[in-house]
Amino acid sequence: MAGLIPQDFIDDLIARADIVEVVGRRVQLKKAGREFKACCPFHDEKTPSFTLSPAKGFYHCFGCGAHGTAIGFLMEFDHLSFVEAIESLASSMGVDVPRSESDQPARRYDELFSLLDTVARHWQKCLKETPAAVEYLRNRGIDGSTAKRFGIGYAPDGWSNVLDKFGKSEEATERLLATGLIIRKDNGKHYDRFRERIMFPIRDLRGRTIGFGGRTMGDGEPKYLNSPETVLFHKGRELYGMYEARQALRHIDRLVVVEGYMDTIALARNGIDYAVATLGTATTIEHLNRLFRLTENVYFSFDGDRAGRKAAWRALENALPQVREGRQIRFVFLPEAHDPDSYVNEHGADAFVQQLDSSLPLSQFLINELASQVDMETIDGRAKLAEMARPLVNRLPAGVYRELLIEGLAEAVGLAASKLNKIIAGGTTHERSRYSGAVTAKKRPSTLGGGKPSIVRRAITLLLNCPAAGVDLDLGKLAGVNRPGVDLLAALIETVQSEPNITTAGLLERWRHDDKGRHLGKLAAAEIPVDEEFDTAAELAECLQQLAVARRKERIDFLIEKQTVTGLTDDERSELRQQR
Ligand SMILES: [Zn+2]
Repeated sequence: MAGLIPQDFIDDLIARADIVEVVGRRVQLKKAGREFKACCPFHDEKTPSFTLSPAKGFYHCFGCGAHGTAIGFLMEFDHLSFVEAIESLASSMGVDVPRSESDQPARRYDELFSLLDTVARHWQKCLKETPAAVEYLRNRGIDGSTAKRFGIGYAPDGWSNVLDKFGKSEEATERLLATGLIIRKDNGKHYDRFRERIMFPIRDLRGRTIGFGGRTMGDGEPKYLNSPETVLFHKGRELYGMYEARQALRHIDRLVVVEGYMDTIALARNGIDYAVATLGTATTIEHLNRLFRLTENVYFSFDGDRAGRKAAWRALENALPQVREGRQIRFVFLPEAHDPDSYVNEHGADAFVQQLDSSLPLSQFLINELASQVDMETIDGRAKLAEMARPLVNRLPAGVYRELLIEGLAEAVGLAASKLNKIIAGGTTHERSRYSGAVTAKKRPSTLGGGKPSIVRRAITLLLNCPAAGVDLDLGKLAGVNRPGVDLLAALIETVQSEPNITTAGLLERWRHDDKGRHLGKLAAAEIPVDEEFDTAAELAECLQQLAVARRKERIDFLIEKQTVTGLTDDERSELRQQR
């Protein structure tokens, strides 16, 4: 519930936090000029490549690529969530974390939790009173004790069972709406979301019900229906069965990610207590963070069909940045037409565990999948594989694992690992041409991970390194400029101008939850060759000026071309006269 903590409090906390103290309390630091150095706590090393810049409020490891702010460090090092890291940092600084509007929302959340819990228990009671539903579960191999353990219930037929029972006042109705248990019609009337369904409460790690999944017993559509996103329930973050796994196991050796709650339950009933399910979404980076907070070994077991393979690939892409030594990420592909539920019921737990033990490591899955898309018999095909692997390999942090993957790839394409390494290091992350003969691609001087930095990229780097330098920039220069990253640049400038005291770390934290912000950390870590004379503000203004000039030139070229092809409108004609 990050939204509960006011943003200006977070900004202020980060600006005032002393990253040297936060890190120094956990890692031995050595002063080196204006910065500090240490042996990196996130990978194994003998010579320090972990650097800390107090001015930027930012750390960066040149060995494994780990980087972040004081908040990020606490999250990684102490295995905390974002909110927990904020709380930890605040308490170490002797500050209380304010919650917006005093503690109103906290109390409101408690009410919502308790409502969901009451409804869950009500549906459990309904299940016991509905022989057809019990029979249905039994036929699916779910006995009474499993149903109890997962809190399975039954929502009877009818449009207003929940509404009538739990929505007797206006506030009560609002709460039902806020938890997604009822739906509001256009005419302002309400009706129950879940009708005639087997109900699976979705619980957070503390065991509180935060939402529900409902499955029809017959042919009704949709077969599975989940609670909508609410203040308590975020599909991209939650994994079904996490709480139950934690209850069942003292130490979690491994977790298996499956696609549906029936898979989780079927496996649990067969004694495999460590399966968790995504809730109708792809595996997200947040899911992975949660998984790796509990265990080092994560297995993905999706359906054997095409959709399952696609889901597995999505999971692989998101897992790449999470790969570290000591962590295992593996992929299980069951025989086609099987999901974990049907497989374990037909073949038993031992067979499923065998599938886990003979699963594909991430590297092998990656190579197999790419190889299946090209003709490996030809040089062209193998070159294409190298090309396709490049952006994926570049998402891996440096380290032993990355080297092993490159070795595996080199073997597959029949190249020396050192040569392939050069190809991978030489490419830009934003692939321009799909295939331009990767094997002959020339190595370019590598800055910020490859490629000649664009003006936009340079401007963002400068701004991150010295946010104050952006305060007087003329944002109007970016009007009409259409290049990758320009929206992000404009948003960063706007933020800096509305909050002139924001630090590098503050900017990074603002974009933590934003997809576009993923690369900002890397740019913030980039060294800019600065001497005392270097004027970042002037340099930034120059970047914007260049973008504006290029945009004007493009516009003139366009108008001239249009003039000869279709002719110009009056407005365009006068525009062209002025531009020239
Ligand atoms: Zn490192």
